[in-house]
Amino acid sequence: MRYSGLRVLAEGLRGNRGWRPAWVRPEPREAYDIIIIGGGGHGLSTAYHLAKEHGLRNIAVLEKGYLGSGNIGRNTTIVRANYMLPGNSEFYSFSLRLWESLESTLNYNVMHSQRGLINLFHSDGQRDAFVRRGNAMINQGDDAILLDPEGVRRHLPYLDFENIRFPIYGGLLHPRGGTARHDAVAWGYARAASRLGVHILENCEVTGIDIEGGRVTGVQTSRGPIRAQKVAMVVAGRSSQVAAMAGLKLPIESHVLQAFVTEGLKPCIDHVVSFGMGHFYISQSDKGGLVFGGDIDFHASYAARGSLPAAEHVMEAAMTLMPMIGRARVLRSWGGIMDMSPDGSPIIDRTPVDGLYVNCGWNYGGFKAVPASGWCLAHLMAREEPHEVAARFRLDRFLTGHLLDEEGTGSQHNLH
Ligand SMILES: Cc1cc2nc3c(=O)[nH]c(=O)nc-3n(C[C@H](O)[C@H](O)[C@H](O)COP(=O)(O)OP(=O)(O)OC[C@H]3O[C@@H](n4cnc5c(N)ncnc54)[C@H](O)[C@@H]3O)c2cc1C
Repeated sequence: MRYSGLRVLAEGLRGNRGWRPAWVRPEPREAYDIIIIGGGGHGLSTAYHLAKEHGLRNIAVLEKGYLGSGNIGRNTTIVRANYMLPGNSEFYSFSLRLWESLESTLNYNVMHSQRGLINLFHSDGQRDAFVRRGNAMINQGDDAILLDPEGVRRHLPYLDFENIRFPIYGGLLHPRGGTARHDAVAWGYARAASRLGVHILENCEVTGIDIEGGRVTGVQTSRGPIRAQKVAMVVAGRSSQVAAMAGLKLPIESHVLQAFVTEGLKPCIDHVVSFGMGHFYISQSDKGGLVFGGDIDFHASYAARGSLPAAEHVMEAAMTLMPMIGRARVLRSWGGIMDMSPDGSPIIDRTPVDGLYVNCGWNYGGFKAVPASGWCLAHLMAREEPHEVAARFRLDRFLTGHLLDEEGTGSQHNLH
């Protein structure tokens, strides 16, 4: 069933009795050609692209909880392509282009809103860094506009421009940056993959990975053993645990990142605003809540909830940048488990076990990567060669020293 305005009208007239579940819930088969472990954004996107781009159909996505229970349903929804290093910038640029056609590709409203992202700077040195980043973005074919303090004031009049510690020197505007509705992205990919015959198995936890003679042969799950010729681990914050089932040790640490939302307010924040120096970023949801976050909790943890000191730090940064936020009441906060890589860049690669693949290391920036990550992992699994925009996301770069150390994306200072 295609979704359309006409369909909504017709169903409204018929008492909405014709809608069917967005994806089917089949019983597991004994064997699949391909198993994707993890029904988050990246796992679903991979399954969809394997079916759509490569014509493969005998695929299952195994999710231990319900769809959207992981980071795909917990993030602050920022989508952008303002990376700088070769290796990252072409990948995120490709991803943003896929975002721009995602709704028509999936026939699903993911509420992608290109409202513009402004990265603020507060010193001469930071301005130089952003000028350089803006030039790299333009060279990549993306958009970037340098704003002076007056330019920032025109867009964001509610900021504290005279703050003694963080006077605003200007900002880098990325007009095509913005947000999207996070769980709609999971639901949209799940529906589109299911329509192509992919089995989405919820409440199906992988508890073991079967390997014979150095080759993967299947997985053990809470719903019984399932055989497969190829298996991909796409489990974000749980990557180290699942890889350990195959005897692998990944260069990944798991940390909690928190987010916060206020009560619904009338529209007041039109852009995504990022305050890298104070470690804070904010946008307003279509429901009116101010959605914001900051840095990770620094201790490694698998608890999907954060600690009070990190929450306090985020509130302090918010008050420093926009004192008017002190009048809003925080309604909810939550945490997600981030797969932090040492250089802040992701991994999409084969593993030393034949037929076993890994997709992880998204740090706190993997939501924007969902379309391209699925595209590139599907390419690698179907063709046995890396996609050109993801060729540097190698697992062995920590051995060989070919790091992709992009300050501003990962382990040191995020901009989200
Ligand atoms: C608070 C917060 C804010 C963020 N903000 C942004 C942002 O603004 N912009 C941005 O680009 N990124 C952001 N991120 C990062 C982004 O959400 C993640 O990088 C991305 O969602 C991770 O990929 P995923 O969607 O596949 O992960 P997940 O949704 O976590 O998917 C992994 C899935 O694997 C499942 N799983 C784990 N173990 C097993 C097992 N043994 N068997 C079966 N299934 C298993 C989990 O249940 C989970 O559903 C944020 C993250 C958080 C937590």
